[in-house]
Amino acid sequence: MLSRPKSTIARAARAFATLSLAATVAVTGTVSAFAQNVPVVRDAEIEALVRAYARPIFRAAGLPEDGVDIVLVNDQSFNAFVAGSRLFINTGALMSAETPNEIIGVIAHEAGHIAGGHQQKLRNQLERAKTMAIIATLLGAGAMVAGATSKSRGLAGAGMGVAAGGGEMAQRSILAYQRTEEMTADRSAITYLNATGQSGLGMLKTFGRFQSALSLSGAQVDPYRISHPLPRERIANLEVLVKKSPYVEKADPPALQQRHDMMRIKIAAYMGGQAAASRLMRKMPGSLASQYGDAQTSFLFGNLAGALAKTNALIKAQPKNPYFQELRGDILMKANKPKAAAEAYAKAVSLDPARSGLLPVSYGQALMAVGTPNSLEKAVVQINKGLARDRENAVGYRHLAQAYGELGNIPAADLATAEGHFYSGAYKDAKIFAMRAQMKMKRGEPGWIRAQDIINYAPSGKKK
Ligand SMILES: [Zn+2]
Repeated sequence: MLSRPKSTIARAARAFATLSLAATVAVTGTVSAFAQNVPVVRDAEIEALVRAYARPIFRAAGLPEDGVDIVLVNDQSFNAFVAGSRLFINTGALMSAETPNEIIGVIAHEAGHIAGGHQQKLRNQLERAKTMAIIATLLGAGAMVAGATSKSRGLAGAGMGVAAGGGEMAQRSILAYQRTEEMTADRSAITYLNATGQSGLGMLKTFGRFQSALSLSGAQVDPYRISHPLPRERIANLEVLVKKSPYVEKADPPALQQRHDMMRIKIAAYMGGQAAASRLMRKMPGSLASQYGDAQTSFLFGNLAGALAKTNALIKAQPKNPYFQELRGDILMKANKPKAAAEAYAKAVSLDPARSGLLPVSYGQALMAVGTPNSLEKAVVQINKGLARDRENAVGYRHLAQAYGELGNIPAADLATAEGHFYSGAYKDAKIFAMRAQMKMKRGEPGWIRAQDIINYAPSGKKK
């Protein structure tokens, strides 16, 4: 399921009384100003899909394609940005794209900026920065854009207040792609799309939409549009390149389009509520995506029996889809049937070709809810498996600490708590728990060494 960070729990709980939430990122320091508006959302299905979009493009661009982390920013505006191995993309961008090709085109354009070495200095800074700090930066850029709309010039100047609040990173330079860099990135993007046998029409559609959109006001501003200037001749040039490609008419494979539709409906259901999901479902009548949306909204809005029946029908249609099993697990957890939920999550884990770290953690949570010593031992194994795949999942450490605690392994519980604080950016608390764990551990054992790493860590990157 889609889960959000802790800071939005109260607000989200009001919006979706039945939605279960998990904290993924604790928000601290300069980021707190944005916390209410900009959580990161985690979802195995969406992350896997966006990674599937990015991987062939990154390969064609000569970028490292393995271990690309997808960071889903819960914001309705359109934005996408690559920093090192992290691809940040707004849920609003995913929602507004009718085809995979539209998102793939934007990723190809971003890859073109990276391959061209554009903004290299900023990228180097961002590569070392924590995920939440980058989000604050990207959001800062968005806020600057919104604040600057009354003046078409001097965007950087208008955003200075935000820049000052956002730490050391030079937000203003996020807005500073040169026009020549845009042309270069477009050309590179077409090269990558051709190399992967894909059309550039989606990219043309997205950029064309930005150019024609007149509503440059307030919250409606898409940060992406501002950071990637669109002089008139750029679209014209791009159009020529796109139409020259032998793949111009090539549509996305139907299976990929189906996954895309399912993703959009899921985002609509979780972020926009029942009405938003229904609007989208009406555009895809009788489709599997529409059935998926129906099951999701039943689950989210309180009809568990109906949701289970609908999800079972989905599983019958696609027995190998891990996310249908995940949804079944979510429903059974909420129905207070942890044993059956654990079985569903176990299937989800075994079916998941993307090896998401989130699914084993969900499986572990269900095992914890079963509550026998044997299931607690199994829970520890699963949660550790999930964390090994996904080191920065702060919520996973919280569950791990609880499982260890219930098993009576207090040093391991303290170390897991330290890790959770560490990956949330709460270094002081992380050190306290790391020291507490060390006191009960043998000097030099792996847990002791890891605790020492946390104790020695200095946020600036320098060892104390
Ligand atoms: Zn650009």
